[in-house]
Amino acid sequence: MSITIKGLNKVYPGGRHALKDVDLEIPTGMFGLLGPNGAGKSTLMRILVALMEPTSGSVDICGYDLMKQRKEVRAILGYLPQDFRFFAKYKTYEFLDYAARLSGMNNTRLRKQAVDEMLENVGLFDVRERYAGKLSGGMKRRLGIAQALIHHPKVIIVDEPTTGLDPEERIRFRNLLSTVSENDTTIILSTHIVGDISSTCNKMALLNQGEVSFVGSPQDMLKHAEGKVWRIKITGDQLHEVDKKYPIIATIPSGTGWEVQVVADEIVGYEAEPFPPNLEHAYVYYMENKLNLWTND
Ligand code: ADP
Repeated sequence: MSITIKGLNKVYPGGRHALKDVDLEIPTGMFGLLGPNGAGKSTLMRILVALMEPTSGSVDICGYDLMKQRKEVRAILGYLPQDFRFFAKYKTYEFLDYAARLSGMNNTRLRKQAVDEMLENVGLFDVRERYAGKLSGGMKRRLGIAQALIHHPKVIIVDEPTTGLDPEERIRFRNLLSTVSENDTTIILSTHIVGDISSTCNKMALLNQGEVSFVGSPQDMLKHAEGKVWRIKITGDQLHEVDKKYPIIATIPSGTGWEVQVVADEIVGYEAEPFPPNLEHAYVYYMENKLNLWTND
């Protein structure tokens, strides 16, 4: 196992319990950490990259104890935070060169070679002379991942990878990470966007209010929602009452009324037909339904 997290807790000063007894086994490859805003994803990421200490618990990263061997862990880690910022005075290639120097690449010739190669890999070679602050949103994100990858880390942690990217850049970014993950690397993608996970990750966890509520493959998660997604045809007047009863995933105009997709164990009072679930449905089912059931146990 690449990363083993045991009994991890984080209580912020002021009392906010952001992580509650988190246990996770993360293998090599792409791992998705999915959860709504406030779930505790960034807290977990910041602990994993040794920027913050947990209140209790242990983390083993590729055989290193995170609490005792922070320096060793940092050397094998690459991190792209959510609010990644550049120094405006650097050109694209200068910024990457700076990041490479920071990560201990001291040989000027080898460093230049590594920087040029990385600029090629992320598709920024042609704009290497442009000031980093002047790059498009998607290009900045790619420069962000380039700085995280430049020292060939074993573990890469990316927080909210596609926020603010247009669909084309999103796909490009995901593909770039998939390619990297083929090299015996562990990539953790933390996101609240279901689409970031479904297309790329072979294993995932769901985090909600600081607790892990699901671990498995996206396919496993889908299975939980089978038979729980319904298509209901309703009139315009019924939309409001259906919305109060069931979580609505999609609302499509149909004739004079609506065709809505909802997730629920069963539908009472409407004519409903089963609908094949996708990961978005499964996610909503978990958040809206299963968690409530569990807390009622
Ligand atoms: P996510 O990344 O999933 O949106 P966060 O890890 O940022 O979640 O936050 C988890 C919880 O911890 C939230 O309730 C948030 O308000 C709280 N929190 C985050 N950072 C701090 C902090 N520095 N001090 C106090 N509370 C915090």
